[in-house]
Amino acid sequence: MTRFIGTLLLVICFSASAGCQSLATHTASSAREARTALSTPPASPLPPNRLLPPAVPAPSLIVLITIDQFRDDYLDRFGPQLRGGLARLARGGAWFTNAHHDHAITETAPGHATLLSGRFPRSTGITANRVGVEDPSAPLLGNPAAPGASPKRFQGTTLVDWLHAKDPRSRALSVSRKDRAAILPIGRSQADVYWYAGGRFTTSRYYRDTLPDWINRFNARREPQNLAGKSWTLLLPDSAYKEPDSVSYEMNGRNFLFPHRLPDDSAAAAAASLATPFMDEIELDLALDGLNALSIGKGSQTDVLSISLSATDAIGHGYGQDSREIHDNVLRLDRNLGAFIDSLFKLRDSTRIAFALTADHGVSTIPELVPGSVQPTPVRVNLADLETSLRAAMTSAKLDTNLVMLDHQIVLVNRDLAALTDRTRALDNALSLFAVRARSLPGVARVDRFQDLLRGDTINNAITRRWVHQFPATSNVELVITLTPFSIFGEGSVATHGSPYDYDTHVPLIFTGPWFAPGRYAEFARTVDLAPTLAEVAAVKAGEKLDGVVLRRALK
Ligand SMILES: [Zn+2]
Repeated sequence: MTRFIGTLLLVICFSASAGCQSLATHTASSAREARTALSTPPASPLPPNRLLPPAVPAPSLIVLITIDQFRDDYLDRFGPQLRGGLARLARGGAWFTNAHHDHAITETAPGHATLLSGRFPRSTGITANRVGVEDPSAPLLGNPAAPGASPKRFQGTTLVDWLHAKDPRSRALSVSRKDRAAILPIGRSQADVYWYAGGRFTTSRYYRDTLPDWINRFNARREPQNLAGKSWTLLLPDSAYKEPDSVSYEMNGRNFLFPHRLPDDSAAAAAASLATPFMDEIELDLALDGLNALSIGKGSQTDVLSISLSATDAIGHGYGQDSREIHDNVLRLDRNLGAFIDSLFKLRDSTRIAFALTADHGVSTIPELVPGSVQPTPVRVNLADLETSLRAAMTSAKLDTNLVMLDHQIVLVNRDLAALTDRTRALDNALSLFAVRARSLPGVARVDRFQDLLRGDTINNAITRRWVHQFPATSNVELVITLTPFSIFGEGSVATHGSPYDYDTHVPLIFTGPWFAPGRYAEFARTVDLAPTLAEVAAVKAGEKLDGVVLRRALK
């Protein structure tokens, strides 16, 4: 079974078709207002991607800031209280207020892989977290027991490669708390890529054999361990937060009240720090140390600094997007980013730095807190019983149950093996029965054959379009399951993301720097447009066909 699953996943990962250009546009909705959860039809095609001479010299540094699980509406919701880095980027930048991950499985790995590649998951090969960066052949330095990680499943190139092709002096540094969030924006490039594992920052043997001195020095400061006994308190007075603190759905009823005190034990505190704003502060310190040590952004070439901040994701999963914890976390993130930008501008020429701010996905409301006006009532969906009955039906039809794998939203099928054994019709019958049963399950909105979606309306139907952008046409994905709005799979997280609905796809997309015309742009934009837009200001050309286009309205 394990080998078959591996084969199926490899087929998905390595059979990507060439990307094609989506012409879709839509109007976003707000999950907070709990209205429609889908996008509306597209308008006219976006202009072609042409390489124009930049009005000002190319940046010496491109800073990509990705906030894990950050909804675009956070910027307005908490806007009056923002005065740090988020405020500076949002108010001084070219902000595409209707920007989306235009793919269906809005998870961390696929989202990050779109950002500097300019391509959808069907083309990057990173179609889900499960097929993200785990790689036993690339063990972590100093932590051989942890799962190894590398970009071996990532296909194609990124902005980092395009910059390097133009000028071999171009360098990239990527840091995150998560391996996939550090690795995937950069693609396959042998850059400086570091993430947090086992209480320290490290990398894998894909990148190097030993940790550099600056990382060892950083780890020796034991910043996460020194949080032992520290409390996460509110930044502002109680009256500044309109959200109730006492919401028993948060954290499954445990530790949902401020202040949140970290354990006295240093190792336990380091582990608990993941779900506090302190981890982002530590990551930003690491980024500045790396920038200094590697002289990133100091030369005449264009370098890249990619920072993916993960605390918002952990806090959002545990407390939900409507929580006082998310509110305070965003305020603290704003202040921490402000301090980071202040420090960066002391170290480097601010007129040569281009910033891009975005997220890898949004998040849904805790299902139990969705207003009653939303019908059907959102539920937590578990397909385990359906899977059992599918396997029973296959067994009684004398089919090898290993022909099929069910993974949350998708059903993978080994049709080649079914054809070899002349059992295709029996397999189809079993799958049809599964689809009928799944459609009748509370919380399931649609069950589609992926091949049918490829012939569907990708202009007017956002769900169809986002599924089509998810997998290559030749993948072994047989069925895709779409839940009703605000329903989620399983009971593992208090709140989560991963759907093709706008509350999970809608993220900030903001550019700042002398190349960009500040303002709010309401036109539909996609995260795959980020890379070609940055490539345009850096005067480099993509090494391959992209799904994204240059957002020319952002440019001066
Ligand atoms: Zn994420």
